[in-house]
Amino acid sequence: MVVAENVHKSFGRLEVLRGIDLEVRRGEVMCVVGPSGSGKSTFLRCVNHLEKINAGRLWVNGELMGYRQKGAKLYELRESEVAAQRREIGMVFQRFNLFPHMSVVGNVMEAPVQVRRTPRAEAKATALELLDRVGLADKAESYPGQLSGGQQQRVAIARALAMSPSLMLFDEPTSALDPELVGEVLDVMKDLARDGMTMVVVTHEMGFAREVGDSLVFMDGGVVVESGEPREVLTNPQHERTKAFLSKVF
Ligand code: ATP
Ligand code: MG
Repeated sequence: MVVAENVHKSFGRLEVLRGIDLEVRRGEVMCVVGPSGSGKSTFLRCVNHLEKINAGRLWVNGELMGYRQKGAKLYELRESEVAAQRREIGMVFQRFNLFPHMSVVGNVMEAPVQVRRTPRAEAKATALELLDRVGLADKAESYPGQLSGGQQQRVAIARALAMSPSLMLFDEPTSALDPELVGEVLDVMKDLARDGMTMVVVTHEMGFAREVGDSLVFMDGGVVVESGEPREVLTNPQHERTKAFLSKVF
């Protein structure tokens, strides 16, 4: 589903990703942890080609992101082709970025109507189903400003799902939330995982990683230091850097 092969990314002289290799299988939940600045967000942005990688290869759904390969040569895809690739990928950030002037259901309908040209009635029916799925059927006509952070984040998840992505990327979806609101967002993500969604989740929620993750990746300094079955990595880390990081998180 996602295959990264020797992915490198620099900003000017700053080498942020220094050869990332990993694979996320269909239906798998991969959790990614690591210190601030280790390149976690940058990696997610590379996966959906919001950032262009400098070297290596990145495939999603068997397609090279952003490029077409002919022989040994790579050709950049057109904007519209990249957009089509991105539609397969839902992304949820730390900050929910809902449209404040639109109702909750309006937020969830927006992309299907504008991008896919889905008829409004159909888009609305789907949006209401998705809001029900994240436990917010009764908030459809509210505005984002009237919702708690946890509710807003659940709307953001419903909005991403409205494009029927085959892959969901989460970048610290709960770290901007008050502690008592974290659980409701993680529960929605758990349901999604149970339904078989392929997910890459950057998170500091080790309980979630242990319970829901199929794999756990520890990144530091732009490389994957260690990865494996979450319980195994958490209870029996092999590298000093992983041990040091985990001892600080717990
Ligand atoms: P955090 O846990 O704080 O979110 P992170 O692991 O997500 O950290 P990144 O956001 O990927 O880290 O950043 C990795 C490094 O790349 C940092 O040093 C950051 O300053 C740098 N960086 C990220 N984006 C850019 C950019 N657009 N231009 C220049 N430098 C950038
Ligand atoms: Mg980040």
